[in-house]
Amino acid sequence: MKVPQLDLVTQYQSIKEEINSAIEAVLESGIVINGDNVKKLENTLAIYTDNKYAIGVANGSDAIYIALKALGISRKDAVMTVPFTFFATAGSIVHAGATPIFVDIEPQNYNLNPQKLQEFIDTNCNFNSKTNQLIDKKTGQHIKAIIPVHLYGQMCKMDEIIKITLKYNLKVVEDCAQSIGSEYQGKKSGSYGDLSTFSFFPTKNLGTYGDGGMIVTSSNEYAEYCRIFRSHGSSPKYYHKFIGINSRLDELHAAILNVKFKYLDKWLEDRFQVAYRYQQLFERYNLLDKLRLPVKDIRNIKNHKEHIFHQYVIWVEDRDNLQSHLKENSIGTNTYYPLCLHQQECFEYLGYKEGDFPISEEASKHVLAIPMYPELTEDKQEYVVSKIAKFYTN
Ligand SMILES: *Cc1c(COP(=O)(O)O)cnc(C)c1O
Repeated sequence: MKVPQLDLVTQYQSIKEEINSAIEAVLESGIVINGDNVKKLENTLAIYTDNKYAIGVANGSDAIYIALKALGISRKDAVMTVPFTFFATAGSIVHAGATPIFVDIEPQNYNLNPQKLQEFIDTNCNFNSKTNQLIDKKTGQHIKAIIPVHLYGQMCKMDEIIKITLKYNLKVVEDCAQSIGSEYQGKKSGSYGDLSTFSFFPTKNLGTYGDGGMIVTSSNEYAEYCRIFRSHGSSPKYYHKFIGINSRLDELHAAILNVKFKYLDKWLEDRFQVAYRYQQLFERYNLLDKLRLPVKDIRNIKNHKEHIFHQYVIWVEDRDNLQSHLKENSIGTNTYYPLCLHQQECFEYLGYKEGDFPISEEASKHVLAIPMYPELTEDKQEYVVSKIAKFYTN
């Protein structure tokens, strides 16, 4: 048996006719950019995430970058985020001209730890109540914003984070690249931030066959800025208010995504059921003392949107050898992420050292994403879990 970590083809086969005719309709219309498909998807996502506006862009990385520009982030500013995320989260901060400041994650959900955030502020910052600015004592930089990342499909503790950001006048950009549709305390991911960003990269829960991204916000002012910024800062056309970039979501991708969006909630529920079966299998194979599951007991989750399982990530001992063992048995896995951002060569200039973020560093050595997609069948899952069991009994 062969089990890939992700299977895009099975899903395509199940909606092939609809996808093909959506693509054909775009080609027949001759309108391949700035058409109705993009507008429709923007509308859909604004409503789905409880926002007023949405702006389609070329990818999820641009979405973060543009959202930061809308907040007026520039040189002399700093933006906080986690060191355990996809590179783009921090890369976009630097592209906006600012300095990233990292705060460690929680061991249970791999997300920003609100307590660590408060501790960082208490130890390293001054709050100027006249200017309403949080200042990094060491650099004198104004910490203007924070990017909480909802990793693997589970949201950060946004109530606690928002309490802190309100206290210190920090703007919030939610990185929802992995969390479309997920909820925290009944509220959608993307509904907490001043702006929130999504990615339609093929592997995401709502992915196209190429690149795409979106920014959502309820602020008319931010929405307007993003719209102008994504087309070189021009408004009206050929008259440039400021220097933006070219970052378009194409009609073809929007048409594909409009088809796929109809199935999104069903696919999210299918993913939950796959996760549910994993829990049962790991119990049946007596593996719970060998590894940690993404949630302690999935049976306690009443609202299935609390974890949309973008990835099913287990915490294991001897990760690299387990991964090779599974590869030998034709089982695909991935490590998101094998090296924390503060340990990357390109961020040496930030001056962090090993040991600064122990939970993130531990996670980078122990996490393993095993096969997860809505169409994953029970027999394939049993094969995966049996091979994991074999590894630990040998
Ligand atoms: C995928 C991803 C991005 C970037 O999205 P792209 O569309 O690939 O540019 C940003 N942040 C996180 C957490 C992601 O997983």
